[in-house]
Amino acid sequence: MLKGKVALLLLILPLAISSFSARVFCAEEASAFSRAVAAYKERNLDKALQYARDAVVEHPDHADAYALLGQLYYLRQDLAKAQEAWERALKLAPDRKDVRQALDRLQREAGIEKSLSRSDVYPFVVRYADGQTPVDSGSVRQMLRDVYRQVGQQFEYFPDHPISVLLYPYADFEAVKGLSHQVAGLYDGKIRLPLKPGRTTGQELQRILWHEYTHALVHDLARGNCPMWLNEGIAELQESRVQPLDLSLARKAFEGKRLPAWEQFWKQGYNPSNLEEDYQIAYLMAQYMVKRWSWREMVRFLQRLGQGEAVEDALRAQYRTDLATLDQEWRQWLRRNL
Ligand SMILES: [Zn+2]
Repeated sequence: MLKGKVALLLLILPLAISSFSARVFCAEEASAFSRAVAAYKERNLDKALQYARDAVVEHPDHADAYALLGQLYYLRQDLAKAQEAWERALKLAPDRKDVRQALDRLQREAGIEKSLSRSDVYPFVVRYADGQTPVDSGSVRQMLRDVYRQVGQQFEYFPDHPISVLLYPYADFEAVKGLSHQVAGLYDGKIRLPLKPGRTTGQELQRILWHEYTHALVHDLARGNCPMWLNEGIAELQESRVQPLDLSLARKAFEGKRLPAWEQFWKQGYNPSNLEEDYQIAYLMAQYMVKRWSWREMVRFLQRLGQGEAVEDALRAQYRTDLATLDQEWRQWLRRNL
């Protein structure tokens, strides 16, 4: 069985950033829809919502515009309006499987939403299971203010668009996500924190929140183009500011000369039998990059990925290095620092 400690998965929304393309429909450059897509890709979500509203007025038969409008309402937890927009999109384009999937998930989420309390703190939209959350709503708000300020300071980035944070019982969480194994937290465009009655403590909540909020920032900066295990490594780095990470498995792998190559590691998926070790290795890779250079350079690197640069190109441009060289120098660094 997995320990809750390690399974902090990162999933993408059914309607990923890249699934919206202004070129699909609009020839004219300055249509409201193309402006909405551009703003969405810039993570300028309030502006994107305005434009998407205009777009469906401009073109009431434009399924993509309704799909995007639904997505923007969904992300800010306005589920009724999201449902309306997605149903409209499906009516116009009944073969859109991604929209149907998104709508199915929304309906499961809407059922749970009814039982949740509301407590917002800028820019977070918070829904939580009252009585099952280990700390009171004031403490949740304080945790959010802290993570926004302290993680934001290292990234020099403070989002001004709504970020939904959902704290609900583990069983409901499984129903929404259809997950087959234990997960401590999740970022999929919203921060989801499953609560295990009697087991999720306030400190645990804070730790998971720091991890998942970091994913939210990385997602914005790299626009969904960050290699998965770099993303996890960066999230672990921030999480370790709340609670230091045990590195014993990575140490053993290092001593046994079993550490994977960066190039292959960053691209691999989640391997349930090796998660804990993989998180530790990912942490050490990200830590090396940030210690050798800086957070500021890491942020620039992520922004390069967000502009569509391939990993190797972005490494060369930002750090004047490549994965193979990094890999070697990292191993030398580990000899002294692990
Ligand atoms: Zn994660």
